[in-house]
Amino acid sequence: MTVNRSALFINGDWVAPNTSSRVTVLNAATEEILGTAPEADVADVDRAVAAARNAVDHSEWSAASPADRAAAMNRFADELEKRSGELTRTVSQENGMPIGLSQAFEGDFAIGLLRYYADLAANMAVEDVRPSQSGLETVVRRSPVGVVAAIVPWNYPVVLAMSKIAPALAAGCAVVVKPSPPATVLDCYIVAEAAEAAALPAGVVNWVPGGPDVGAYLVSHPYVDKVAFTGSTAAGRSIATACAELLRPVTLELGGKSAAILLDDVDLDAIMPNLQFITFMNNGQTCVTCGRILAPAARYDEVVEALATRVSSLRVGDPLDPSTDIGPMATAAHRERVEGYIEKGRGEARLVAGGGRPRGIDKGWFVEPTVFACMSNDATIAQEEIFGPVLAVIPYDDEAHAVRIANDTAYGLGGTVFSADTERAKDVARKVHTGTIGINGYPLAIGSPFGGVKDSGLGREFGPEALNSYQDLKSMYIAG
Ligand code: NAD
Repeated sequence: MTVNRSALFINGDWVAPNTSSRVTVLNAATEEILGTAPEADVADVDRAVAAARNAVDHSEWSAASPADRAAAMNRFADELEKRSGELTRTVSQENGMPIGLSQAFEGDFAIGLLRYYADLAANMAVEDVRPSQSGLETVVRRSPVGVVAAIVPWNYPVVLAMSKIAPALAAGCAVVVKPSPPATVLDCYIVAEAAEAAALPAGVVNWVPGGPDVGAYLVSHPYVDKVAFTGSTAAGRSIATACAELLRPVTLELGGKSAAILLDDVDLDAIMPNLQFITFMNNGQTCVTCGRILAPAARYDEVVEALATRVSSLRVGDPLDPSTDIGPMATAAHRERVEGYIEKGRGEARLVAGGGRPRGIDKGWFVEPTVFACMSNDATIAQEEIFGPVLAVIPYDDEAHAVRIANDTAYGLGGTVFSADTERAKDVARKVHTGTIGINGYPLAIGSPFGGVKDSGLGREFGPEALNSYQDLKSMYIAG
């Protein structure tokens, strides 16, 4: 059954789009039509931003008590929970995400973000009083930064939107979300329905599903006060340039080329489930994927063989089947890109598993999970973000060498260190120059800051740090 949407959710209402232009969403596993939806244009952005501006400047929302905002956010979370089955199935069909991961991230984690920030909002002091060196007092006041433009990619469309919406709402901001059609647009309708059912005030959250041009227009819109972006480093640079000219605050969550460092004491059987998760999570279509496995030279052959065996046993297929390990790539164009890297890899490394399309599947944008024994970190497959199920296993001589290789990339987003000795792994992790790193796994935590250094971005999401980034601070010096 296809889903055909006809309206846009702007100013708390379902409104006719400005043009008749539509996008068709295809099921990544079957190539069949999943649904269609209107494509927003710049006039729709004008309406959405005006609605958000009005919600910030003239509605009760920004001035509401944090407790009232928290209650509205918890209602939103309740309504999302009711729809989480439909929501997570939709995402899995849109972008190929295995359903278990979709339930954990696009469902539970996204809802958890709303509840976490509702709780922070409920307990937030809008003003605090600080002593000054003159013996007088200063009142430090937090106010919402205003209208937020939230631009997200297709790989985790719900959770990446919610990582902006939730702290923004907690702060009292209003948000205009630009999803990433054509791959992921149907999911945002389900989130919008939840917002409507939760009776969020008009204009507090709006969706404008358009292309990069619509995103660029939104970024530079005169009524926008802050931009929160997740996507590629190239687009992030262009957005940062626009924001620099406007002196507009911006948070950038960009690409990565993370490394999993296997220390020489690892028990390969014991670490394999967590290593598989962080290398193939969402079919490799994850910003923090560890596409590089750094193996001690003395155990290199053993690691390559263990990975090749594991990867060859992974179940590739229907993302809605809970037993599937690897679903399809999100789009035909993205599969072509991933296959281009596999071709490049054949010329610069030794293919030890995968490398083609899975046999027996003739529909859907599948690629086999692939492992290369790669002797140099300078190889293209070791340096560039592939965003698919492709691993480069690279040897290192000692721990210092492993850290040098891990850091020898333009990016600095994630990583993992695996060791039988947690303290030893933590010591190595401290030396890796990234915004996040996991020890013997990567259990992402809502309450801790997430983001990147170097070409992986600016600013942080999650934790109280994200709430701060949606607030302006004003110091009121009291002289009498
Ligand atoms: P993309 O940069 O092409 O697009 C992301 C979004 O930005 C889309 O909605 C797109 O329409 C919009 N966009 C593109 N150019 C724009 C511009 N100049 N101005 C405004 N909007 C613009 O990225 P993608 O291919 O959709 O997503 C994959 C990338 O996202 C990967 O590089 C991945 O690492 C990154 N990512 C990062 C994180 C993180 O938290 N660091 C999380 C997920 C994905």
